[in-house]
Amino acid sequence: MAKYANIIVDISHEKLDKTFQYLIPQELVEEVRVGVLVDIPFGNRSITGYVVELTDEAEFDVSRLKPIIGVKKGSVPIESQLIELAGWMRKNYGGTMNQALKTVIPIKQKTKAIERKMLKLLIGKEEAIHTLALYETKHFTAKARLLRELMTEGVLDYSIVTQKLHVSSSTVKALEKEKVLEIETTKEYRNPVNHLESKGYHLTLNEMQQTVVDHITTDITNGLHKTYLLKGVTGSGKTEVYMELIARTIASGKQAIVLIPEIALTFQTVMRFYNRFGDRVSIMNSRLSQGERYDQYLRAKNGDIDIMIGPRSALFAPFERLGLIIIDEEHEASYKSETIPRYHARETAIERARQNNASVVLGSATPSMDSFYHAQNGEYELLELTQRVQAKPLPSCEVIDLREELRNGNRSILSERLQELMEDRLAKKQQMMLFINRRGVAGFMSCRACGYVVKCPHCDVSLSQHNNGKMVCHYCGYEEPEPSTCPSCGSKYISGFKAGTQKIEDMVKKRFPQARVLRMDFDTTRTKDSYEQILQAFANQEADILIGTQMIVKGHDFPNVTLVGVLAADMSLHISDFHAAERTFQLLTQAAGRAGRGEEPGDVIIQTYNPEHYAVLTAKAQDYECFYEQEIMYRQLGFYPPVWNLLLVMCTSENEKQVQTMSEKLVKRLQGHIDSEAVFERKPIQVVGPADATIARVNDIYRKVIYIKTKDYQDLVRLKDRLEYYMKDNRDFQNVSVQFDFNPMSGF
Ligand code: ADP
Ligand code: ZN
Ligand code: ZN
Repeated sequence: MAKYANIIVDISHEKLDKTFQYLIPQELVEEVRVGVLVDIPFGNRSITGYVVELTDEAEFDVSRLKPIIGVKKGSVPIESQLIELAGWMRKNYGGTMNQALKTVIPIKQKTKAIERKMLKLLIGKEEAIHTLALYETKHFTAKARLLRELMTEGVLDYSIVTQKLHVSSSTVKALEKEKVLEIETTKEYRNPVNHLESKGYHLTLNEMQQTVVDHITTDITNGLHKTYLLKGVTGSGKTEVYMELIARTIASGKQAIVLIPEIALTFQTVMRFYNRFGDRVSIMNSRLSQGERYDQYLRAKNGDIDIMIGPRSALFAPFERLGLIIIDEEHEASYKSETIPRYHARETAIERARQNNASVVLGSATPSMDSFYHAQNGEYELLELTQRVQAKPLPSCEVIDLREELRNGNRSILSERLQELMEDRLAKKQQMMLFINRRGVAGFMSCRACGYVVKCPHCDVSLSQHNNGKMVCHYCGYEEPEPSTCPSCGSKYISGFKAGTQKIEDMVKKRFPQARVLRMDFDTTRTKDSYEQILQAFANQEADILIGTQMIVKGHDFPNVTLVGVLAADMSLHISDFHAAERTFQLLTQAAGRAGRGEEPGDVIIQTYNPEHYAVLTAKAQDYECFYEQEIMYRQLGFYPPVWNLLLVMCTSENEKQVQTMSEKLVKRLQGHIDSEAVFERKPIQVVGPADATIARVNDIYRKVIYIKTKDYQDLVRLKDRLEYYMKDNRDFQNVSVQFDFNPMSGF
């Protein structure tokens, strides 16, 4: 039982770190938990505050600490729920309580809420006519103009008066003084979608969609709150299912959160929700200013909205009556936070739903290995949409062996077959998308003649090129020099694989001078709306070919696209990461799903150096289960998630020697706990490292990694706790920073 409680008085204050410590009196020990609202003595009065942390260590002189007066009874404020969630995140992902709090609760901004000023006529008609005549005879033209307008309108917006009528603010004041008008000020929250209009419009669900909706609704009616995995092929109508579930949630007086990856949060998607639910919807995205963000927080808290749509962070919408959380494209890596606490939105959503008796729906055409594994285990319930809406066929898929192309003397990035189909589509005035897989573009080395990839002999991941001429394995530290010829076939065409979108655009334009080409990548989408503009231009058929990175794979429905070319499917196959095959399968399947969404059927060309790789073959066949079966075996054999759990401990320092010594100490320490403590007894726990991180030095900061693998996630949490405790107030760690990443989404 903890003795002390750290308490925050103003939760939205910028200085969240400002906590006060109080004693927990014996009689309150049971009730005082993270998140509860308590009464505390403050100066010579009593105020309320939130408990954010429980501890056994006094930060001040104990004799000067005051006891908590009591725990507030009655309804739980939304802040309490979010603080409790932050406590769970801190515990399960590491970091400090402040970092967790800042993640779930936005900071109040100094910017004021926008004020709307209205001018109202105070005098009656008779008097107004009289006054107007007076102004006119005296040639008070501005006053006369304003009064005339007010007499016809009754009420005027202040900004219209000053901007459109060119009446100065001193004129307005003068009329206010003369009691001709009054100024009314109302506070207005910034609403990012208020320029849109709701049509309350929706489609009638088909049988498969209806079955899914009915199933979930029945569970909810029976008081069952589960996590569902909705596996629906691209274009099967998942979004319509979400909207129907949301409509029912709202009808029962509850609220809903919809997570969509930022990149898929396009105007088109937002409009679909808005068309149905009108301004009960709010959106969050990274383009909102901090003021706008805080306003959305307030609108949600005040109950002005029922649906929050946004990326990861929308999960923390302060809904008091949360009933449903939807995570679309649940396989997306962007649902994992890259800042501390490194939480996963899926796991955190499930915890939030548990706290609120809410249901969770995870949707994807290509579920993550994690989710499908949990569905197989029965932790999630699997629901499926197996056909495209209106029985549109899935596109047909061809795999082209790029080694063969080279052998036949074609050194272009476009295979003969792809060029042929492109020619055909240009003639038919249909559109196409060329997709270049840029993930893991730096790093692995492969042979252009035979496709051989330099791999670690111990770990079954590709080695990464380091700038010192060496190839290194990030999982075990194994290294070897870069080869100059292919170890498999002797060809000298072995190199790091690089091909930018720009280069491809140039090649395509040269080969098809008549084609209109658009390019979408990191460079062309830097400005605020450029992403949306490019998609819109393509949707308006202002171009024949759209070339892009994984960005173009989602978010838009282009009915006229009948050809999708994946230029080098391999790129993501060789990232030094155990997710490589999963990412490749997802990207290929999603890319293929872009073709043939309209009246005409579609074709997909997958160009690869690894035509026999199971990720490529199963993507070609669009056979998720077959991919899953093979991939889960690989995860099992390599002790990787989701079968095992993995904790990455990243140590960084400016001092190369120190980071080496300290990370070695941590490994010893870990081994010590594992060998001596009863909780870890007879559990297969592996500690790997320390090894150099992929990029072993960034800005003169040296980076070492330690991996801990075990079946039980809670064992990883325990080991993290031991290390955090060991490092606390340990002067040896003053110059070495240590961060935790549970089940990381990429290799390090
Ligand atoms: P997904 O999210 O699974 O990719 P969407 O919900 O975007 O699928 O649906 C794909 C297309 O089919 C959209 O254009 C959508 O408007 C349409 N659609 C979905 N459900 C229906 C339905 N029941 N009847 C007619 N059209 C539908
Ligand atoms: Zn290795
Ligand atoms: Zn070779």
